[in-house]
Amino acid sequence: MEVPPPKSLQQPLYVPNKTLMGPGPSNYSQRVLDALSNPVLGHLHPECLQIMDEIKAGLKYAFQTTNEATMCVSGSGHAGMEMALCNLIEDGDVVLLGPTGVWGHRAAEMARRYGADIRYVEARFGRSLKMDDLEFAFEGHNPQIFFIAQGDSSTGILQTHIKEIGELCRKFDCLLIVDTVASLGGTEFLMDAWKVDVAYTGSQKVLGAPPGITPISFNQRAIQHVLKRKSKVKVYYFDVMLIGQYWNCFNKPRIYHHTVSSTLLYGLREALAQLCAIGLENVIHRHQECAWRLQDGIEEIGLEMFVSDENDRLPTVNTIKVPPGVDWRKVAEYAMRKYNLEISGGLGPTVEQVFRIGLMGENATIEKVDLVLNILKEAIQSTQLNKNDKSKI
Ligand SMILES: *Cc1c(COP(=O)(O)O)cnc(C)c1O
Repeated sequence: MEVPPPKSLQQPLYVPNKTLMGPGPSNYSQRVLDALSNPVLGHLHPECLQIMDEIKAGLKYAFQTTNEATMCVSGSGHAGMEMALCNLIEDGDVVLLGPTGVWGHRAAEMARRYGADIRYVEARFGRSLKMDDLEFAFEGHNPQIFFIAQGDSSTGILQTHIKEIGELCRKFDCLLIVDTVASLGGTEFLMDAWKVDVAYTGSQKVLGAPPGITPISFNQRAIQHVLKRKSKVKVYYFDVMLIGQYWNCFNKPRIYHHTVSSTLLYGLREALAQLCAIGLENVIHRHQECAWRLQDGIEEIGLEMFVSDENDRLPTVNTIKVPPGVDWRKVAEYAMRKYNLEISGGLGPTVEQVFRIGLMGENATIEKVDLVLNILKEAIQSTQLNKNDKSKI
């Protein structure tokens, strides 16, 4: 053999212990971390299937739904987006999207590939969508599908009024997809009561489970829509009827569709067990309290939140304006180098403009809020100081 083994793999694995307070992933709890070292199971072994059933029950609680078609897709949050869109869309369908940051545009990029006719209803910069604008857009476009992110992690905007959006969608005979990747567990979300047809979330954000396994739920209305399709779902791997059969959602014998990672299931199962033990209301309350404390602290150190209307602020991913004369990259590097703490910069419409501070799962505690505030303040002061030093030279 002519290709030798690489030298780098003769070194031991090195993983630093970082405090992840960007837009995700968040840190694992000890319970989740411990669960990940269990032995691997076969994807159709009864013990594995039982864990899947337990996860399904936990997800129904987390989404506040009785939907039978509640399952996970193997893949990160993007897989949830792909699955929601590709099962509902047929060629020529009008898909209306309400971007409040990058995620609506990312979903549009996917929907176009599935043959959708893309339309947008845009929010004012730094704000959530208002019902007047939505009603106007629905009348103008008469969409078959509407997509919205409840929490857009690129801007820190929380879309309020999902309940009213659900009613609007019923009025226009339109299916409602809600991305809750950055929001579920950190702010109220009532899938059934709000008439949401498809919702998915991220395992590695508020839930604090490993990335790579994405919870998703389809209501009966969405499943009926899939069953009435004229064409097959374009991606075999994302077909809800097949994945759902593997997850025992349709009272049909389980099939082998793909090999689910039992390791990721252990992590998600334990994360959901912790959510159930503490209680969803308590967990949501804790995230909100932490966000309020962070916002107060941000004002105290003389900074300003990017989202001006308090009601539009996502508690889990907080966006803070980068003040003039401050280099966000230097601040983030300082926090990482000195404290192993992740603070993130902007993304898409907020790039170079904001810091993003995630308060999710294990990192949604008052102690972590105070830690990140102290480090942010120190990092801004130190990096500004360095700049002045340089200008003196
Ligand atoms: C993080 C995120 C995603 C994508 O999740 P990945 O796990 O990175 O694929 C989608 N939507 C929102 C709102 C997110 O915050």
